[in-house]
Amino acid sequence: MPQESDHGQTIATQGSRIDAYVDRYAARATGMVASEVRALFAVASRPEVVSLAGGMPYVTALPLDVVGELVADLIAKRGPVALQYGSGQGDPHLREQICDVMRLEGIEANSNDVVVTVGSQQALDLITRIFIDPGDVVLAEGPSYVGALGTFAAYQAKVVHIAMDTEGIIPESLAQTIYALQTAGNRIKFLYTIPTFQNPAGVTLNTARRHQVLEICQRSGVLIVEDNPYGLLGFDGEPMRALRADNADDVVYLGSFSKTLAPGFRVGWALAPHAIRDKLVLAMESAVLSHSSFTQLAVGQYLATQPWREQIKTFQELYRERRDTMISSLEAFMPADFTWTRPGGGFFVWATLPEGLDSKALLPRAVAERVAFVPGTGFFADGSGARHMRLSYCYPEPDRIREGVRRLAGVIEQELRVRDTFGASSSPDHVGVDTPGPDLA
Ligand code: PMP
Repeated sequence: MPQESDHGQTIATQGSRIDAYVDRYAARATGMVASEVRALFAVASRPEVVSLAGGMPYVTALPLDVVGELVADLIAKRGPVALQYGSGQGDPHLREQICDVMRLEGIEANSNDVVVTVGSQQALDLITRIFIDPGDVVLAEGPSYVGALGTFAAYQAKVVHIAMDTEGIIPESLAQTIYALQTAGNRIKFLYTIPTFQNPAGVTLNTARRHQVLEICQRSGVLIVEDNPYGLLGFDGEPMRALRADNADDVVYLGSFSKTLAPGFRVGWALAPHAIRDKLVLAMESAVLSHSSFTQLAVGQYLATQPWREQIKTFQELYRERRDTMISSLEAFMPADFTWTRPGGGFFVWATLPEGLDSKALLPRAVAERVAFVPGTGFFADGSGARHMRLSYCYPEPDRIREGVRRLAGVIEQELRVRDTFGASSSPDHVGVDTPGPDLA
């Protein structure tokens, strides 16, 4: 069990052994705290629990035999290259192919401005590493991606949330926050945004607001980091035009094959203005020397030989069906004051509990009833969000989604009865940024 030290740090213990090095960690390590809900999620991964918590893509829908043959063929024919070190920037041919993928979102890019990274998570880490000194401000939607908040905390950034609604970030709120921070002498290093099918809110920044956000940031000298792992997983119509498509100088774009192919390859990328690109390559080399040549070439081979656009359509249809099941189950089972967003793509629904209910207090009861979700507090740097929860529909089969929502509704009904009898449910103390771990990200 974790313990609290004199100076408020968590002392990790293994069995009964207290961490003997606790006073020697760098200051930045204090920002790295495991979520209190982690232990519960170990229980939540049991088969009898319906997990609406995880953000895991449904990789079973891939033609796994074809991928297997492709990998075997790669080693047989190009083994000495695939198993050798590669360049810090990434395989040149894959970088060209990445430009083809980005073209679907209106981006015209030179492959020389692309850096291949270990998932877009590493791109996030590198961009934070090269921009953030302790105390620097990062702007982010409230709520925002838990993995990004963990990275910002690790580099001791001060995260300031920008309000959003069902159409994404609110431009007036962005402009006012930037103005207030800058006049108070804060250094805003960048706006981190997930404009399309946001994690966790499931909402998308509309076209008019995209122009406003670009204009506000450009006017006030704020770099934009556009994180777009779900952009091609829309359920209706053509992909949204990326922010980067309309501004190549002030936007760093992060992309990933984790959701359109598979996260196990760990292939993502950053597309950055030239000077930032140079820094990213140096940071990449210092972190890992070079990305895995093997997985880069495997992804390259997949893109060159397989109908990858068709595969994306398969994923879109699969996730659309699961989204529909989740929405219709919420409509069927949830009490009147429970509300939720209706995502047009991606993996997540963001739900709001009736007044007086707390999602973190609810989680142990939900797990006891064999259903799990991620409490909203994990998605805010300041620990707010207690009335919210993220429900994901990407991984469970539709009948499991329906059963999971039914169980969750039962737990909420019960909590409402407790609330109406005894008042608001109690909220556990929140400490630091939750980091629920990769399977939940
Ligand atoms: N950004 C967002 C918004 C995500 O949801 C995720 C993963 N869930 C990532 C980045 C990281 O993904 P990966 O490293 O697998 O590309």
